[in-house]
Amino acid sequence: VSQTASPPTGRRTLSCAVLVVIVVNVVIVAFGAAGVLGETPTAGLRLLVATLAAVVLRRQARIAHDERLVWCWFARAATVVWAAAAAQLGLVLAVDVPPGAGDAVVSVSGLLACVLLYQGLIVWNRVSTKLADPGDWLNGISAGLAVAALVHLLIAWRATEQSTLSWALNLSVGRFAALFIVLGTTLTVAAMAGLVRDPRLWGIALVVVLLMAVEVATAVGVLSGYWSSSGWVLLTAVLAWASAVHRRPVRPQAATTQSITVGTFVVLLASVAILLLASRLSPASTWAVVVCGGLAVVGVSTRVVRLVADLASLAQTRQDALTDDLTGLANRRAFTQELDRVAAEGAQVAVYLLDLDRFKEVNDRFGHAVGDRLLRRTASTLRSALPHGAALARLGGDEFALLLPRVDPDEAVRWGHSLAAVVHGVVVLDGGGHVTASVGICLPSVTDVTDVSGGELLRRADAAMYQAKSTGQVVRLYDDALDRAGREAALLTDELVDVLDSGSATEQFRVHYQPQLDLASGAVAGVEALVRWQHPRRGLLAPAEFLDLVERAGRMGTLTEFVLRTATEQASRWRRQGVPVRVAVNLSASSLTDPRLLVLLDELLGAGLHASSVVLEVTETLLMANPERAVAMTEELRDRGFGLSIDDYGTGYSSLSYLVDLPATEVKLDRSFTVRLTTDERVRQIVAGTVELAHRLDLRVIAEGVEDEATLDVLRALGVDETQGYLHSRPVALADLAAWMDGRRTGAHPRAVPLAQRALRASAG
Ligand code: C2E
Ligand code: MG
Ligand code: MG
Repeated sequence: VSQTASPPTGRRTLSCAVLVVIVVNVVIVAFGAAGVLGETPTAGLRLLVATLAAVVLRRQARIAHDERLVWCWFARAATVVWAAAAAQLGLVLAVDVPPGAGDAVVSVSGLLACVLLYQGLIVWNRVSTKLADPGDWLNGISAGLAVAALVHLLIAWRATEQSTLSWALNLSVGRFAALFIVLGTTLTVAAMAGLVRDPRLWGIALVVVLLMAVEVATAVGVLSGYWSSSGWVLLTAVLAWASAVHRRPVRPQAATTQSITVGTFVVLLASVAILLLASRLSPASTWAVVVCGGLAVVGVSTRVVRLVADLASLAQTRQDALTDDLTGLANRRAFTQELDRVAAEGAQVAVYLLDLDRFKEVNDRFGHAVGDRLLRRTASTLRSALPHGAALARLGGDEFALLLPRVDPDEAVRWGHSLAAVVHGVVVLDGGGHVTASVGICLPSVTDVTDVSGGELLRRADAAMYQAKSTGQVVRLYDDALDRAGREAALLTDELVDVLDSGSATEQFRVHYQPQLDLASGAVAGVEALVRWQHPRRGLLAPAEFLDLVERAGRMGTLTEFVLRTATEQASRWRRQGVPVRVAVNLSASSLTDPRLLVLLDELLGAGLHASSVVLEVTETLLMANPERAVAMTEELRDRGFGLSIDDYGTGYSSLSYLVDLPATEVKLDRSFTVRLTTDERVRQIVAGTVELAHRLDLRVIAEGVEDEATLDVLRALGVDETQGYLHSRPVALADLAAWMDGRRTGAHPRAVPLAQRALRASAG
C-alpha cells in the first residue's frame, strides 16, 4: 500500500513553488527568444532552474515510499540536464569555443537523460504492475532503432543525391527516437498500471511531446538550439513538479505481458517494412536506415526468440505440474481436475483407488531403485489394461487412481478384481515375488447421493480401499455402511483414547493367554499374551478390531506398557510358584522404535523380573520397515537377556539368511504355512528346510495355528520344537488358563477349552 511520507500540505506548497518556477522559466525563455535577455543571463537562469529542479528531485527521491526508485532515476536524468546547463553556461562565458560545441552538449546530455528517464519509467511500471519483463531494455532499444530508421527513411525520401547526413542530424534523429520511446513508455505505464488519471504522467508526456516538436523544428532549421536547451530544462522542472505533487495511492495492477508481446511484433513488422521500403531508394541515402532498421530487427528478433523460449518453458511447467515424474502418468492435481470436470458434467463414472500392499517393505528391503521400478512397472501394466475412455493417475506413493466410464456395481467389482489380478502379475524383482494390491471403488449411484464433488468421490474410494486393506479383502465397493463403519471407527478411537489416557487401561483392557506346548514332552513351555478390549457396549473385542486404531491414535506405547506389565507380573508369579512358564508379548511397529520401551523393561528388571522368562515377538514386516533401528533395538533387548521371536514368519519378503543379522531366539511359523502342511507337499518342504536352517542358527521353531492332530503329527515329524493353536487351547483369560493347566495336570480336563467369552474373574494366581 502506498504511503505518502511528507505531509500533503508540505507537498502542496512545494508543488506550487515548482509550478511558479516553471511559469517564470517559460516567461524568461520567451524574453530570451525575443532578444530582451542576453545569452549569458538566459544560460545562467537555465542553470538556476535546472539546479532547483535537481535539488527538489533529489530531495523527493530520498523520501521512502514505494515509488522512491522511480524518482531516483528521474533525479539522475535531471542531474545530467543540470550538468549540460552548467557546461553551456561555461561555453557562453568561455572565449574560444569551437562551433557546434553547445549543440553537442545538448545532444549527448539529451540522449543520456532519455536513457535514465526510460529506466525510471520501467521501474515505475514494475512497482505499479508487479510485472517484471526482463526484455524491457531490448524492447526499448529495438523500438528506438525502428523509430530512428523510420525517421531516416523519411529524410532519405526527401533528400537529394547530393545532400549528406550530418552527424548533428544523426544525433537529432537519435534524440527524437529516444524521446519517442520515452513518450510511448509513459503512455504504456499510464495504461498498464491504471494511472490514466495521474496528472504526473500526463505532465511528463506533454513536455516530451513539446521537446519532440522542438527537436523536429530545430532539425529542419525553423528553431535554434536555444529552444532545445530550454526544453530540456523545462522537462526537469516538470519532473520536479511531478515528484512533489500529491499522488493518490493505487493498487498494483495485475497486468499481463500481452501488450508487450504485441508491441514486440509491431516493432518487428515495422522494422522489416522500413527495410523493404529503404531497399527501393538509393543506397547512398539509406545507410542510416539500413543500420538502424537492421539493428532493430536483430534486437526484436532476439526478443521474439526469448519469448518463444519462455512460452515453451511455460508449457513445459504446466505439463510438469500435471504429470507424475516417476511414471509419466497424470498426477493427483490432474486427476482431481478431471474428476471435478466429469462430476460437474454429471457423467456417471466409477472411481477406483488402487494401493499396493506392503510397498514400504519392498522399498526398505530392496532399496528405492527397486521400489521405483516396481511403481513404473505397475503403472505401465495398468495403462495397458485400461479400457477406452478410462483415465489413470498416480496420486503419490504407491497409490493409483482410475476413472472408468459408468459400470454397474457387479461389473465394477469384477473390474476391481481384474485390476488387482493384473497388478499381481507385476514382479518385484526379476524372478522374485509378486505384489498384491487393495482396491477401493466408488460408484456415485450406489450411495444414492447425487451432486458429489470429485474430491468427495476420491475420498470415498479411498475409504473403501482402506477398508479393503484393513479387512484383508482385495476389492471393496463404497457404500453407506462403510461410511458408518468409518464413523464407528472414529467413535471407537475416541473411546480408547479416553480409556488409555485416563490411566485406566486395566478397567477395560484384558490380557488373554494362549499356551505354547513342547512337541516332544507335551509340557506347557510358554504362553502368548494377547490383548482384548472388554468394550462396555460392544463386548469383548479382538485385537484386529482396535489395534490399528490404537496405532493411528499414537497410543500404542500405553497399550504395550499395560500388556507388558500384566504379562510379566504373571510370569514372575508363576516363577515364584515354581511353574517356569515363558510369557511372549507382541511388540508393534511403534513400540519397537520407542525408546521408552527400554526404560520400562529396565524398570521391570529392576523390580525383579527374570528376562529369561519373557519373549518379545516382532513381525518380520515390522523389522523390515526400519532395519537399522530394528537391529539396534533387538540387540538392546538381547543384551538384557530377553528372548526375541520372529512372529508370522514366512509372510514377509525376508529370508532366513537376513535373520542371521538379528539376535533372535525363536521363529514362529505363520499359520498360513501350518494350515497347508497336510495338503501341500511344497509347503511341507519349505517348512522342513526352514526348520533345518533355524536349528542350525540355534533358533527355536514354533508353529502357530495348529488346529488338528494330523498337522501336529507332521510338525513333529519335521522336528518343530513347539506348537500353539486351537488344538491345545484358544487364547483364554488367566483363570481359564489356570483351570486348563490344572485339568491337564490331573488329566481330567479336555485338551482344549472354548474361547472365553464370559467375564474374567479377578486375576487369580
Ligand atoms: P499373533 O501374534 O500372530 O497371534 C496369534 C493369533 O492367532 C491370535 O489372534 C490367536 O488367537 C490366533 N490363533 C492362535 N491359534 C490359532 C488357531 O489355531 N487357529 C486360528 N485361526 N487362529 C489362531 P489374536 O489374539 O486375534 O491376535 C491377532 C494379532 O494381534 C496377533 O497376532 C498380534 O499380532 C496382535 N496382537 C495381539 N495382542 C497384541 C498386543 O498386546 N500387542 C500388540 N502389539 N499386538 C498384539
Ligand atoms: Mg504374536
Ligand atoms: Mg503370529
